[in-house]
Amino acid sequence: MPLSGLDIYKLLPKTNCRECGFATCLAFAMQLAKKTVGIDKCPYLTEESKRTLEASSLPPIKLVTIGTRSSCLEIGNETVMFRHEEKFHHPCLIGIIIEDNLTDNQIKSELEKINNLKFERIGQKLEISLLAIKQNSASARFIEVVKLISSYGYFNLTLMSNEEEALKGALEITKDKKTLIYSATGENLSWISKLALTYHTPLVVSGQNIECICSLTEELSRQGINDLVIDTGKKSIPEKIWDLTQIRRQALKKSNRSLGYPTLTIIEQDNPYDEAIEAATYISKYAQIILIKGFEAWKALSLLTLRQNIYSDPQKPLQIEPKLYPVGQVTDKSPVLVTTNFSLTYYTVLGEVEASKVPSYIIIVNTEGMSVLTAWAAEKFTPEKITESINKFAIRNTVSHNRLIIPGYVAVMSTDLEEKSGYQILVGPKEATGLPSFLKTLSSYAME
Ligand code: SF4
Repeated sequence: MPLSGLDIYKLLPKTNCRECGFATCLAFAMQLAKKTVGIDKCPYLTEESKRTLEASSLPPIKLVTIGTRSSCLEIGNETVMFRHEEKFHHPCLIGIIIEDNLTDNQIKSELEKINNLKFERIGQKLEISLLAIKQNSASARFIEVVKLISSYGYFNLTLMSNEEEALKGALEITKDKKTLIYSATGENLSWISKLALTYHTPLVVSGQNIECICSLTEELSRQGINDLVIDTGKKSIPEKIWDLTQIRRQALKKSNRSLGYPTLTIIEQDNPYDEAIEAATYISKYAQIILIKGFEAWKALSLLTLRQNIYSDPQKPLQIEPKLYPVGQVTDKSPVLVTTNFSLTYYTVLGEVEASKVPSYIIIVNTEGMSVLTAWAAEKFTPEKITESINKFAIRNTVSHNRLIIPGYVAVMSTDLEEKSGYQILVGPKEATGLPSFLKTLSSYAME
């Protein structure tokens, strides 16, 4: 837990010698609390004070990276229990399990399908980025499958095996790729920890209860292994939520270092809908890696969309750049629509304009990321603001007509906007879904 300036002051020598560049130890303590200077500036700290100060500056949940620098995945380093308190920082990873008893052709076909699970939503790319290879066969086959999947290079990997020979062979193939190993238990700790140290890989720690997990993470930490991920094993959904919540609470509220690591859950449901529901539950609270078996497109899109919503910043709505956007092969006769710079609004309007196949312009007004009605109520989407945007984006030089289409929800501003902008205002549909038919039925002379 971070220390206050006064707590830090109690750990300083209090000689006011000024060697740190500050007039007093208290002034230095205040800057340390704000993290504007480092503890190395004071040469007179005792070893014990140094240890205490270093420990207090560590994040309560360790940041763990999986994969190589160019495509590495980061999890952990979370600071709050609830999204509205600040935000969640590192989106949980959704990974798919591939079992080694499939044939090579089946594996190749699955890889292609998983690699095609790419979506774009409100301007962000969503995709599956983690694969877990699970050993069901002999060591040689597991190693063969790891080699096959690694050769594609599409994904970062988790290796799921409890055989030393199999894991060692697989890690030789994936070395330097920071592959996650699943998992250390009380039984295999002696050899699996050596593999994690030798190959510099993060390691999952598995135990049925929190006490058992604590003793394992403490032992691994003593051995110098700190890139850890916690798994509390197979449980019912309520039990799992209890574990995930307790681990997070202990790390954030009680500064329990033994539990200050990201968490992982494996979903073992045969029914794809049950699997999706369970995964959605753990995305919400508080798993940072979720491994599933099924990779239907509908499921991937639903889970990735949920994750995108939960891991966005609640205090900063997703926004796009305010400017004039052409859609399709526009001409000077193309219709001009006006809307706000809330990403979801823009991309919804964009999708419907594209669906209409009527090339159009969209003017995006800076409403600080608010949607149409909210912005109107907050006086961010007003006739003055719209007129300002029209002038700024030089619409008169772009189209030869004199008409603008505004969202139906703000029809009330049309007269005022006509007076202020000098444009004729056409009131569009209230919902974006009405745009294709609205644009198609605009008479051809309407924009002349
Ligand atoms: S160098 Fe250390 S002892 Fe000297 S004033 Fe700064 S904090 Fe105090």
